[in-house]
Amino acid sequence: MKKRLLPFSFLLFIAFGFSQTKEEIVEAIHKEANENSQLEQLAYELMDLNGPRLVGTPQMKTAHDWAVNTYKKWGISAENQEWGTWRGWERGITHVDMVFPRVASLHATQLAWNPGTGKKGITGALITLPKVSDSMAFVKWLPNVKGKIVLVSMKQPTGRPDYNWEEFATEVSFEKMKSERKKIEEAWQQNMKNTGYTSRNINAALEEAGAIGIAQSRWSKAFGANKIFSANTSKIPVVDISLEDYGMLYRMVENGANPQIKIVAESKELGEVPTFNTIATIPGTELPDEYVILSAHFDSWDGGTGATDNGTGTITMLEAARILKKVYPNPKRTILVGHWGSEEQGLNGSRAFVEDHPEIVGGLQALFNQDNGTGRVVNISGQGFLHAYDFLGRWLESVPKDITQHIETTFPGTPGGGGSDYASFVAVGAPGFSLSSLSWSYWNYTWHTNLDTYDKIVFDDVRNNAILTAILAYMASEDPERTPREKATLIGNSRRTGKPLTWPTPRSPKRKGGLDK
Ligand SMILES: [Zn+2]
Repeated sequence: MKKRLLPFSFLLFIAFGFSQTKEEIVEAIHKEANENSQLEQLAYELMDLNGPRLVGTPQMKTAHDWAVNTYKKWGISAENQEWGTWRGWERGITHVDMVFPRVASLHATQLAWNPGTGKKGITGALITLPKVSDSMAFVKWLPNVKGKIVLVSMKQPTGRPDYNWEEFATEVSFEKMKSERKKIEEAWQQNMKNTGYTSRNINAALEEAGAIGIAQSRWSKAFGANKIFSANTSKIPVVDISLEDYGMLYRMVENGANPQIKIVAESKELGEVPTFNTIATIPGTELPDEYVILSAHFDSWDGGTGATDNGTGTITMLEAARILKKVYPNPKRTILVGHWGSEEQGLNGSRAFVEDHPEIVGGLQALFNQDNGTGRVVNISGQGFLHAYDFLGRWLESVPKDITQHIETTFPGTPGGGGSDYASFVAVGAPGFSLSSLSWSYWNYTWHTNLDTYDKIVFDDVRNNAILTAILAYMASEDPERTPREKATLIGNSRRTGKPLTWPTPRSPKRKGGLDK
């Protein structure tokens, strides 16, 4: 064995040299992020100009191309890596109007992968789901939907979120509303069970039975916010109608006013199209086969423009990469940015990357993922890596206090089994971490809703996160040691299954999506 002894003074020089440089670089990151921020411009180009990024749509592809070009402008090489195919579809005009007993334009939109109606649209009377005792009774009722548009969601007893009731209602009426709503919800769920279907698969049954359209209202428990997911029909349109308009139509049906609506929901089927991850690279100079990955899924649902899910994670990583390229252009380890496709359908892009690039995953020093809204980072977990405190703790010490003062850390923590793309890496024992954000009412107001738009972005918080990410990436890249991967002994039971905690197992991506119908 060869032993190389360095003179003490030389070691001192290295340590001193690094710490000098470290302070300067951290300072330079801070300065660049604050004085030359590109976040607003990036958000404008991605959310407003490009729009939502549903997998399989032309807008997903134009976003990938935009990312590659944006990196090119900054002198960073980037490419779109194909990993599968998806059902190609493009959203067109949606216009939904009540045409009887009076005319009113409704707040509504077609769901993703909706089979288009063409320009002419469809017009029909409305029908609500019946109260049934069992699935036989439901089957007997089903022919009633022929030629009708079916209202498949529960009518909400209030359009006011609970926080609004809490602020203004008397305690008695707030409690009364909650207990009445609970009864209505339980009865609705029991009745849905009785039909033999779920809210997921009932659309297909109604279509089969001759309904000409389906209207739902998936309220998100916030003023004006509805969840917008996919249609699940093969020929007839499915639209989501705002709580306000949906409630009005429902009451009219209940009172025998026989309302009719017209649905124009144009869309294009585009066959089978390729799906991508955009990968940007700043090559490492000393340890090019070891990697620090900045990670954020690039796709979104398309009720809004995917501003906080995950536009903010996306621009955080873009901005961090831009800053690093400027102030730290020759990193010790290779810095990659992963903009994953089709996270929303099951972490597909990142799972494909893990499967297709074992050498990169094997050489992973650390991955930092952000994907839960616009807020400043408040939680970082060691994800069950036994020595996470030693390295993550060390890296965080170099982050300015105005950023770390908000962050609660958990070490060694437990490995995340899903939720976002870091989990694809953790599952194979590679050190992936989640930069978890303050909520800013994410779950009710913006997550997969029609309200997930540019105006919800809190740029100061995103800037905070870009600085944090850039410094963590710099520290991980420069660290003299390779990140150890020993797993902590997991103690306790899973909150989800109640069974003893185990390390999550890797799963394969869906490589051909939306085409199995
Ligand atoms: Zn997301």
